[in-house]
Amino acid sequence: MARHFAPSAQKNKIKIQLPSFRVPELPKLFKREKIHYKPKRYQRTFSVQEMFLVIAATLLFMAGILLPVPRAVSVLIYALAAILAFLPRIFQILQDALSRKLPEEDLLVLLGVIGGFCIGEEVGSAIAAILYRLAQVFESYAVARADAAFDLMRDKLPEKAKLLIGDKTTEVMPETVDPGQIIRVGIGEIVPLDGTIVSGVTELDLSILTGNSTVRTCGVGDQVFSGSVNHGAVIDVQVTKPFSESAAASLLHDVQVAARYETTQERLVDRICVWFAPAVGTLALLLALVPSLITGQWLPNLRRAVIFLLTASPSALMISVSLSCLGGEMSGIFNGILSKGHDCLEILAQTKTMVFGKTGTITGGRFEITGVFPNGCGTEDLLAIAAAAESYSHHPIAQLLKLAANWTPDIAESVMEVEEIPGRGVSAFIEGRHVYVGNAYLLQEHGIRYTVPSRAGSAIHVAVENRYWGHILVTDKTREGAFDALEELRSQGVQQLVMLTGDVLSASRPLASSLGFDLLRTELTPDAKVSAIRYLISGKGKGSSVGFVGDGINDVPMLEAADVGLALDALHSWDEADAADILLLDRDIDKLPAAMRIARGMRLILWENLGILSAVKCLILILALFGAISIPTAAFLGTLSTALAMINSLRSFGLK
Ligand code: ADP
Ligand code: MG
Repeated sequence: MARHFAPSAQKNKIKIQLPSFRVPELPKLFKREKIHYKPKRYQRTFSVQEMFLVIAATLLFMAGILLPVPRAVSVLIYALAAILAFLPRIFQILQDALSRKLPEEDLLVLLGVIGGFCIGEEVGSAIAAILYRLAQVFESYAVARADAAFDLMRDKLPEKAKLLIGDKTTEVMPETVDPGQIIRVGIGEIVPLDGTIVSGVTELDLSILTGNSTVRTCGVGDQVFSGSVNHGAVIDVQVTKPFSESAAASLLHDVQVAARYETTQERLVDRICVWFAPAVGTLALLLALVPSLITGQWLPNLRRAVIFLLTASPSALMISVSLSCLGGEMSGIFNGILSKGHDCLEILAQTKTMVFGKTGTITGGRFEITGVFPNGCGTEDLLAIAAAAESYSHHPIAQLLKLAANWTPDIAESVMEVEEIPGRGVSAFIEGRHVYVGNAYLLQEHGIRYTVPSRAGSAIHVAVENRYWGHILVTDKTREGAFDALEELRSQGVQQLVMLTGDVLSASRPLASSLGFDLLRTELTPDAKVSAIRYLISGKGKGSSVGFVGDGINDVPMLEAADVGLALDALHSWDEADAADILLLDRDIDKLPAAMRIARGMRLILWENLGILSAVKCLILILALFGAISIPTAAFLGTLSTALAMINSLRSFGLK
């Protein structure tokens, strides 16, 4: 795919043509006010008063059991205890009953409790009422803990920015700072907006974003990200992005949006919740009426119906599943892994085929020049013109050439009509001369003869005005820890590791075989890589998915084509990495198995909760059907399973 640029057109305009694939922008939700995480349909907040009411109800109930009073009085005490426990809900239940068609779970449970009192099971009913409310307090507490995790994130957002006007600074809200303005960041302060350092050299701690305590030395011209902490000296930063698009704010925004993309389990439980309470309520009614009318024996059947009503609440199911998903998401954030939907983590957990780009992903972009072979020009000239043509490219090869040729930003001014051809190289006009810098395919496609290099490595050929100027041989090194990361992926269930690269076979094969890749395809354009990914997807088994790991540079179509796209070191290719589903914000490749561990951990906790809760509920219902369980035992089992599921859900906040 070569896009030839007409030299006469738009002489003085710089045109950078990046791949035309863009993801549609997600609606920006970001708000600065306090955010509360609430599973849908669950609007209760944890309050100490409710807790006290439940404790008071328990004490009253104990008094009823221990005090030697006549039965009528003790029944009254039990009834009071049940009312005390249910007090905060009764008003809501009445309101719900008046305005909604379907009976809510609270109403059904309350009916169950009242029914229990009517059939003389006052002790069991009081216990059931207290335990049910205790379970709800557990649930609200777990939700409050989730809220606290959100607050922790929000607190990391800087509250103010010091705007520099002349040589004075004024404190303003970061939202009011426009790109282009200069802000000052003092020692110990959080960088409020993304930008470029224009004065000062300092050490920045990126741990809020990356999850690792990585301190980087940055100087004039270096990019800085909001959310990093300035440990070194005072710096002035020219803002490049508005606050809402800066790293820290985007992160928070993405976490909020992530909850909208649900996992299979969340969708399943959503559906169950709609019909569970009404269905159990109807069953209870049938159970109370039909056999009793046939046999004439009312008491045992009414007892069964009461147990059904007491078990009718699916809220523990819903809350535990939402909390586990949120926990997975937040654990990711704390480890520098941002997933753009709960479902992304779910898909990652079931990835059986993982596809990698080579350059910048497996090799970490640490290139070395191993030889410069000019063809009729000077070595310096060859490097200089190649670097100039690469002025606007973020590709690792471009960075290397610029470093080797002592490239400075003012050189870019003489470079025009730049076209970056993914998987091939660049085409540009430098002082009116048409320059190609890229691999052999680029020159072949334009009918330019070139010398086939005799030494190993990737050759970057240079042609000026359709005349061959020579080539530069580069080799890249494997990212540190790549072998271990890939091995760990395998141990986590990834069965096939695939490398798709635009580079030549001779340079890629040693790397692929030393890292144990199962499949290697070389000399691919981005289009061919997309086709390869589609092919892998078409052959994948049921319940498995195909992931793609790239560095974000020229990777957008692949990130979009795969079931789940992961961008490594996404902070440094923030705009391109937007196409990815999961952003790994640090440079280290070990974030990849970490993301997999979190995704799999989350999935396990989800299934455990679903398992515990549905098994216990089914068990209670079946036992009740055969009259083999008493009301207090049923209530106790129900509450125990809720408590277990809540504790288990909170575990997902500490995944690593
Ligand atoms: P990978 O698939 O391994 O990530 P890329 O698709 O990024 O590799 O690049 C493949 C090949 O295309 C490189 O090895 C290089 O030869 C050539 N290439 C791509 N971009 C550039 C560029 N900006 N400058 C020079 N060569 C490039
Ligand atoms: Mg690449």
